[in-house]
This record gives sequence, structure tokens and C-alpha cells, in this order.
Amino acid sequence: MKIVNNNAPEALVKLAEKWAAGRKSFYLGPENVFFYNGQPVSYNGADDVSREIGSWSIYSEDCPVPTFEFLKKEEIEDIAYAFVQGSAVPSIAMLTLSYVCNAACHCCSYHGDESAYYKENFKGNLITVDLETTKKWIDKVCVMGIKTVNVGSDGEFFLMPHWKEIMDYTAQKGLKQYIVTNGTGFTSEIVEKLRRWRNVDTIKFSLHATDFETWSEFTQIKNRQLYETAMAAPILAKKAGMTVHLNFVKTKTNARQVKKFIDHWYGKVDGVYISHVLSSEDIFHNHYDQFNEPVGICSAYASMILVSPSGNVTPCCPMTYHYRDEQDSLPRANINNHSGDEILHTLRESMKNEQFRSMCAHCTQYSRKGNKQFKVRIHGYDAWRYPSRIFVDCRKKDVFSRWGRSVRKRTKKMLEVIRR
Ligand code: SF4
Ligand code: SF4
Repeated sequence: MKIVNNNAPEALVKLAEKWAAGRKSFYLGPENVFFYNGQPVSYNGADDVSREIGSWSIYSEDCPVPTFEFLKKEEIEDIAYAFVQGSAVPSIAMLTLSYVCNAACHCCSYHGDESAYYKENFKGNLITVDLETTKKWIDKVCVMGIKTVNVGSDGEFFLMPHWKEIMDYTAQKGLKQYIVTNGTGFTSEIVEKLRRWRNVDTIKFSLHATDFETWSEFTQIKNRQLYETAMAAPILAKKAGMTVHLNFVKTKTNARQVKKFIDHWYGKVDGVYISHVLSSEDIFHNHYDQFNEPVGICSAYASMILVSPSGNVTPCCPMTYHYRDEQDSLPRANINNHSGDEILHTLRESMKNEQFRSMCAHCTQYSRKGNKQFKVRIHGYDAWRYPSRIFVDCRKKDVFSRWGRSVRKRTKKMLEVIRR
């Protein structure tokens, strides 16, 4: 069957040819490609594709134009893969260099109740990737076109050996740094140093409580001075001009403090994440309600890479739980042995892997970009609901209505075309 191509994005041409060769009748245009079940969808790797109605189309010759229908789940998945293969570059690289930490939060995968795997395989807190290797990894991250790095994400950033040299190197390379810390070492001296590097994009403080007793029970740190340093840290960072987010992981220790925590920090920082504790079991076996969702539009996929201390690269956080179990049938890249291009190719290809796809279909972290159902209210505050966490925007700006207005406008226009 022949196809008619009116300026269609390059990434979709091969897919259209494949569908036509299979004698499939179809029409693709912004009018239906960016919709699934009446909801707007976004694809990683398709930011440069026009959503303007009538700006492009590609269809099989026999397709009655312009009779559009919502595409099926499988078809949306095919499109997601085509876009990812074409151009998706992860926006952040998370390099796990060390598990060093001065806390032992019960909920922590690396130092808490469920940390047996790490204690056994990585000798507790001791694994640290050396500086030379770290620099080689950072070089590869640059070759891949990634613009932001988060290093030492599985322990306390400021206790990591070489953190200053790493800051130096990423700054030289023009990379932005995303830092996650428990704040216990965040002094004005450190702020001064960070200001000099000028490449801290966002800093996230995991605080989990407002009072010393709850914080101490949560972190297992008994030192009041460290508590005071941690609680003062977000304000210091804000004064230094950084974007500041806070982490509050809800457990039985601090569950009653959610409102108090948001009340305390609202207007002082940029945002607060309220998360649930998820065990590795929960992540893939506590089925979220996305059975009919196309897995290819999960916003986590292809938007990040995670590198383990042994160099294994995974495409999103939940996948680390599987890769660590040595599942050899999953596509695998290693930053020590593969080039940047090979890593990107492996990640993009992995989405075609049946085992990978079935894990996505059962993943609690599945997250679809731009879904209006994700808007919620919590204790009187506007917030975004993600599968396992809620984000409260604390900047007191009218973010929702601006975002909502533009999505509503586009949705209305597209639905009119589809239903015409
Ligand atoms: S501060 Fe972070 S890395 Fe350290 S034990 Fe707590 S959750 Fe784990
Ligand atoms: S659904 Fe889960 S496993 Fe799949 S890409 Fe998204 S976050 Fe990763």
C-alpha cells in the first residue's frame, strides 16, 4: 500500500512504511498522534515535532481523510518507540559513586531495613568509584549530549570523597549539577564553594520532619547540631540563589507531620516532595492502574540514565531493581566498556524488549507527562500527583492555571478536529 507524506516527522516515516507494508490503513497527524483515550500525551524525543493541527500528516493511500480516531494503545507505543529511536537524549545522568552516609533512615534502600542486598554486594558504605573513573564517566555523559548530572545519589553527597574535584570537573565541562543531600553538612562555607562553581541547578534536601525528636528517630542521627544545620540548610541555599526542593518520605514515624512540614516550608523553598515508602517488591508487584496505558510514554523512560558503581547503565530508577538481579535477557550497557552512542542505542532498543515492556506495565512509577488527572489538593495546597509522590509547588505562583489553560486550549481544539 502506498503512503502519502505531507512533511511528516522523519522518525515516523519508517513506521508508516512498515504499517503500509503490512497493509494497515492509517492516518497520522498531530490531531491524533498527541492524544490517547481523549487525553493529551507527550513523547520523549518528540519535543521538536509540531503539534499544530494541519502542520503535517502521513497516511495510507486508502485512508479516508480526514476521519480521525484515537489511536490504539499498541499504535501509540509504536509511535513512542519511533520518537525515542529518532532523537531522545536523556536530560540527566545519575552517577552512583558511593554509598557513604551518616544516616540510616529505615526507608532507605541502601542503609535502611531493606538494604541487605547492598550490604552484601557493596560492602555496606565502602564502595566509592575513584576520581579518574568518575572523570571518564563524566566525559561520556558529555558525549551523549546530557546536560545535567547527579553524583553520589545513593549516599550523602557532601561525605563523598572527591566531591569538590567532581564539582570542579563538571563545572569545567559546562554540566549542571543536581544535588541531593540530607543537609547535615550544608554550612555557609559549603555554600560559598558552591557559589564559586555556579553550576548547581537544583538542590534537594531530604529532611522528613520538622522537630528534632522525629527527625532523629527517622534518620537515626542523635546529634542536635547536625539537625540544626540540616534545618537551616534550605534557607542558606535559597539565599545563595539556588532552586531548593525538599524531600519528605512518609513513614509511620513522621506520617502526622505532613501538614506541619508543608505549612512550615511553604513560601520559603521552591517545592516539597511527599513520597511513600516503596520496597523493591512494591515497585513491580503493587500494580498501578495503568494496564491500558502505553508504556512508551512513561516520562521516566529515556529521560535519564543511572550508572551503578560497576558501570551498568539503566534507563530509570525502578529498572535498577531488575538489573541488579542480573537478568541477562534485558539489554545492558556498561559505561566502562561502551561508547556514548552504544549506550544510547542500547537504552533506546531496550524499549522493544518484551520483558522490559511487561515490567513497565506493572511499574508503580509509571508517569505520563502532561496528564491533567495529576493535579490534586493536599492539606489545602495545590499539588501534582505522581505515582508514588506528590509535589507541592511552594512558590506561591499561579502555576496550575497557566499550565491548565494552555493544555485545555490545545485539547479543546484537537478534540474538535477529531470529532468533526
Ligand atoms: S540520608 Fe539518604 S542515603 Fe542516607 S540513609 Fe537517609 S535516605 Fe539513605
Ligand atoms: S514504567 Fe517504570 S520501569 Fe518503565 S520506564 Fe517508567 S519508571 Fe521505568
